[in-house]
Amino acid sequence: MLQLDHHPSGRHFLQIPGPSPVPDRILRAMSLPTIDHRGPEFGALGLKVLAGIREVFKTRHPVAIYPASGTGAWEAALANTMSPGDHLLMYETGQFATLWQKMALRLGLQPEFLALPGTDAETGLPISWRRGVQPELIEARLRADSGRTIKAVCVVHNETSTGVTSDIAAVRRAIDAAGHPALLMVDTISGLASADYRHDEWGVDVTISGSQKGLMLPPGISFNALSPRALEAMKRATLPRSFWAWDEIVEMNKSGYWPYTPNTNLLYGLSESLDMLLGEGLDNVFARHQRWAAGVRAAVQAWGLPIQCADPAVYSPVLTGVVTPAGVDADALRRLIHERFDLSLGTGLGKLKGRMFRMGHLGDSNDLTLIAMVAGVEMGLKLAGIGIAGSGVQAAMDHFAAHAAQDRSAAHASPRALQQAA
Ligand SMILES: *Cc1c(COP(=O)(O)O)cnc(C)c1O
Repeated sequence: MLQLDHHPSGRHFLQIPGPSPVPDRILRAMSLPTIDHRGPEFGALGLKVLAGIREVFKTRHPVAIYPASGTGAWEAALANTMSPGDHLLMYETGQFATLWQKMALRLGLQPEFLALPGTDAETGLPISWRRGVQPELIEARLRADSGRTIKAVCVVHNETSTGVTSDIAAVRRAIDAAGHPALLMVDTISGLASADYRHDEWGVDVTISGSQKGLMLPPGISFNALSPRALEAMKRATLPRSFWAWDEIVEMNKSGYWPYTPNTNLLYGLSESLDMLLGEGLDNVFARHQRWAAGVRAAVQAWGLPIQCADPAVYSPVLTGVVTPAGVDADALRRLIHERFDLSLGTGLGKLKGRMFRMGHLGDSNDLTLIAMVAGVEMGLKLAGIGIAGSGVQAAMDHFAAHAAQDRSAAHASPRALQQAA
């Protein structure tokens, strides 16, 4: 039970794949006094974060920022581009893809949900929840759509319920190979600023993201990165929208303001997060997450437990899903680990409930905090009487010791410190 008057000693290990641990530097930036959102200082802040977030999405086009969770930005993407009854082609990679598909139904759209059929022999889990989007299925379906009724293809870049990524450039190529005019919409709520992502280069029309994962912020702001085609589609789309409407936001953002009160203190945090991420360099940020992920996977492999992602080409750099042996309730294991070691792990969602848990390796982490996470899980597995083949802690230590972090100085110095040094 949650006891707000009691805190265990030491740090809490928040190892769910979002919200991720927030760096102290960001928490401090967010504690500054709230300012007038129509005043002159605010405009400068607005322009700064809007320019910086475009660099993170790798786009020259507008990015709308909402005071809302990621789910709001999903709705914004659909409400701005679709009309009642429109057909969508969505792809079942896991629970987040499923929730987005349910939202499309609620909004009066007609989503078709593609998936690889069947269950997997190793785990009995749905095959489609262990692999990424199969672009050839999308291409075949679009080729068959001779009436061109499908208005958008919607995929999740980093499926947070499974720890599987999808090749977005390949999805774009599939749409182009079919010569189909559908928009491409991508949820990278948990991929942005942890996994390589290129809105313009990959020809994405709407990218959806959120604050509480790779951007290392608390929950509460979310994003739509737009393409010129998405802005054109908005003019013809007739689903009702007001709070989410891009036109007013994009217009007012030109001067750094919003049509309504934005989330001022979270924007202070975003400004700090952008300084950290762009100061480190996005390629270094991506390499750092890949290295962490490989260390955590080495631990899971040493335990002899299956990794939820069955295709090594698309392992997530953000989180690793671990399948528990048949008959072991993964949520009971998670509860035990939380009670004993103050370590929070991600639960198995939807079709994976009770069958797996998720280890996050994003946000304010380093080799030693991740080894602590691995140690907490390993002790939990032993306490729960789950047989393991070998020591994951040893495997993670060996991995991190054998693979030096790249560009350590840049990763730990603030841009201001770098400027002073220059
Ligand atoms: C976290 C997440 C969401 C939901 O975002 P909320 O902020 O909880 O509304 C959607 N999609 C993915 C891939 C996510 O990781």
